[in-house]
Order: sequence, then structure tokens, then C-alpha cells
Amino acid sequence: MEDGMDTAKVMASRAPDGRGWGGDYWIENDGRCVGCRRETKIAIYGDGAVSADPRGVCGGRASYGLVAADHGATGPDVPLCFDCGNERERYEAALSVARRRWAVAS
Ligand SMILES: [Zn+2]
Repeated sequence: MEDGMDTAKVMASRAPDGRGWGGDYWIENDGRCVGCRRETKIAIYGDGAVSADPRGVCGGRASYGLVAADHGATGPDVPLCFDCGNERERYEAALSVARRRWAVAS
């Protein structure tokens, strides 16, 4: 996960004006999916808007993180890609990994 964030910073530094190989956006790594271990992606546009829409440039690797508060717990977001988030067995396996990282909110 740390490696992914470092890579993201490098990629961002190559496109400080918001213009990258896609034209008016660039792609950043947003973590490493706990399901398939691929790096999850977000697109950042020139106006600062952030998108993790799987119908867009990020495709199936769009960041689809598991958020502790959505599951009655506290802790860091756990990276998950859109593909894993939309396949029941992979989603449930990822959620069980995430729950081991989270504390149940009281
Ligand atoms: Zn995945």
C-alpha cells in the first residue's frame, strides 16, 4: 500500500499542471486492492475533480475502497478495485480482511 502511494506522488509530480497522458487528467494509484493485489486507480482532472468511475479511464481498477464507517467500524479505508467490489465472493473475502483491520465502533 505504501508503495502505491509513493508511486502516486511520483506520477502527480510529473503532471503538476493537471495535464497528463490522458489530456486534461492524470491517473494516480490509490492503493493496492486487498482482493486481487492490483493497484487501484483514480483520475484527477485539471480543475481538481477526482473520479473513480469504472465507466471512465480507470476501468475495472477504479478505486472502490471499503470504508469502515459504512460497516459500523472505525479504521482506515481499505483499498478495493471496482472489479472485486462487484464480484460477490471477492467482495466478501475483501470485507473479511478489512474487518480484521478495523475496530468495531461501540
Ligand atoms: Zn481487486
